[in-house]
Amino acid sequence: MDKKTTQIVKELLVKPQNIVVVGHKNPDGDAIGSCLGLSFLLNSLGHKATVLMPNDFPDFLKWMPGVDDIIIYEKETQKSLDILEQTDLIFTLDFNSLDRVGDLQKPLENSKAQFVMIDHHQQPAAYAVATYSDVSMSSTAEMVFHFIEAIGKSEMLSKEIATNLYTGIMTDTGSFRFPSTTPTTHRIVARLIEAGAESATIHQNVFDTNSAERLKLLGVALNNLNILPDYNTAYITLSQKELDEHNFKKGDTEGFVNYALSVSGVVFAVIFIENKHENIVKMSLRSKGDFSVNHFARNHYSGGGHNNAAGGKSSQSLNKTVTEFISILPRYKDELTHAS
Ligand code: 5GP
Ligand code: MN
Repeated sequence: MDKKTTQIVKELLVKPQNIVVVGHKNPDGDAIGSCLGLSFLLNSLGHKATVLMPNDFPDFLKWMPGVDDIIIYEKETQKSLDILEQTDLIFTLDFNSLDRVGDLQKPLENSKAQFVMIDHHQQPAAYAVATYSDVSMSSTAEMVFHFIEAIGKSEMLSKEIATNLYTGIMTDTGSFRFPSTTPTTHRIVARLIEAGAESATIHQNVFDTNSAERLKLLGVALNNLNILPDYNTAYITLSQKELDEHNFKKGDTEGFVNYALSVSGVVFAVIFIENKHENIVKMSLRSKGDFSVNHFARNHYSGGGHNNAAGGKSSQSLNKTVTEFISILPRYKDELTHAS
């Protein structure tokens, strides 16, 4: 975090403040971990910080320290609005545009509070008085660690903060294997373990708590895997019916797209997940090497994210979405066949 941003943040935190820490819609491990980690820090500095999420998050994150105090806007709308009314400062973490918080967008836009952004996605919007944006970072949780160091509060690193930040970094780096994982990431992770994060337990809590139904849904997804060798592309579909037959719960499809990307020679992978409640098909896009799924998702699916991991959506039917997707690929043939 640069000197100017650090100075602005320090000034904002000189006296005790009412603070809301917000993550993006469909919060993942990094959104929850970075928001909770930061809120523990702010509370121990004498502020009153509340974590607010637009909607619910997966069960495999529900053991994290502080989760019971998270307010879900979709479930506790009036309470959320009351808290926002009283807030001086809003930290937005792991997203960089207010259209990423679903129905919480209007209340945030109408708020008189000042905003601080901490985020590692591409193309940040300009709504914050302090913007700490760095697309080279593995995760927002890693950035929260840098934030704590920058404001000179490293000695406050507790087991709760360490556990949350570890979980955020671990989930966003695919357990420290994606290219965004740097020597600095590993050094920070070591510090977090020293501060009390239990790495084996955290891995177990996140990865070894599958339901049988989720694994059977994975079986369906793998059966639906399609490879398009001409484009080094693989995709998976899941229909609402298939989700319903396996008692789908939020988070159950997390990571499925990585199986498509793991096919030898594949550099671009997509999972299409039908959502009849919202009348959309939600897409997760992943790539290896230079092919930017951020650009692809922005150009075609009102989405975005990172170069190698992005999301988007389509309001067409599942079949039509897939047909259209396949029809777009020839335009990217060069990039897809020369990416590595
Ligand atoms: P996932 O596919 O795991 O849901 O998301 C991959 C990455 O893309 C995450 O960093 C996530 O924040 C981002 N992302 C997912 N969906 C969207 C979207 O609809 N719009 C934008 N801008 N980013 C998204
Ligand atoms: Mn993230």
